[in-house]
Amino acid sequence: MALVPMTAFLEDAKKNKYAVGQFNLNNLEFTQAITEAAIEEKSPVIFGVSEGAMRYMGLDNVVAISEAAAKRAGVPIALHLDHGSSFDVVMKCIRAGFSSVMFDGSHYPLEENIRLTKQVVAAAHAVGVSVEGELGTIGGVEDDLDVAEEDAALAKPAEAIRFWEETKVDYMAIAVGTAHGMYKGEPKIHFDIIEEVARNIGAPIVLHGGSGVPDEAIVKSIQVGVGKINVNTESQVACTEVIRRVLEQKPNEIDPRKYLGPARDAIKEVVKGKMRLFGSSNRV
Ligand SMILES: [Zn+2]
Repeated sequence: MALVPMTAFLEDAKKNKYAVGQFNLNNLEFTQAITEAAIEEKSPVIFGVSEGAMRYMGLDNVVAISEAAAKRAGVPIALHLDHGSSFDVVMKCIRAGFSSVMFDGSHYPLEENIRLTKQVVAAAHAVGVSVEGELGTIGGVEDDLDVAEEDAALAKPAEAIRFWEETKVDYMAIAVGTAHGMYKGEPKIHFDIIEEVARNIGAPIVLHGGSGVPDEAIVKSIQVGVGKINVNTESQVACTEVIRRVLEQKPNEIDPRKYLGPARDAIKEVVKGKMRLFGSSNRV
């Protein structure tokens, strides 16, 4: 199967009240782990690629390994740009073969965010690529993004509804209290904001910073309108913990496959667990 836009599984997810996970690619082993998890769980999946990960892996490598994964998997896979910062980077990814893009104009004033997002939607939709927009500022650190807690701002429902009506993005990320990276305490998710926005727009809500959010809060957020959940930190933690453990036990180990292999298995388990929690298992 070729890579698909996120709209390929939007209706089914909405009808059956589940969310599709976005799992970020960091290297080949992450791509393999996420793909194997999707195959075993019979789940649609979204490969998230940040601009930082793209620089690390190389744009052509990202597209090549994702296309190979999609061809082999037999489940729908979207290759999605995570937090695209400009029209130029969005176009570069679409030309290279991405099937979905996020344009993150959340740091611009509302009017400017709407204007820029509309341009992205027009160009992307013309070639069958889905678009995620963002409103409100999600706190925490992720690659090039670093938002201090005091600067994180919840989305205002009226603005989010207007944003969607004017841009018609396929998926809508709104800041509802989650953050990128590790949480110090338990995140306070504003379910009322999710519910009010979801009820008034024609797109699923995207929950960024899905790592470390308690299972009950995830389930509740899906019930009120979340249709896509982003996970990266938990996979990274699982990966690194295994590598650390292997190297502690065998300090003379020099074969990267001996620690990257078990790390890949650990990432796969995290992803499989999330797919079951999000309700996307056994949907294809
Ligand atoms: Zn994010």
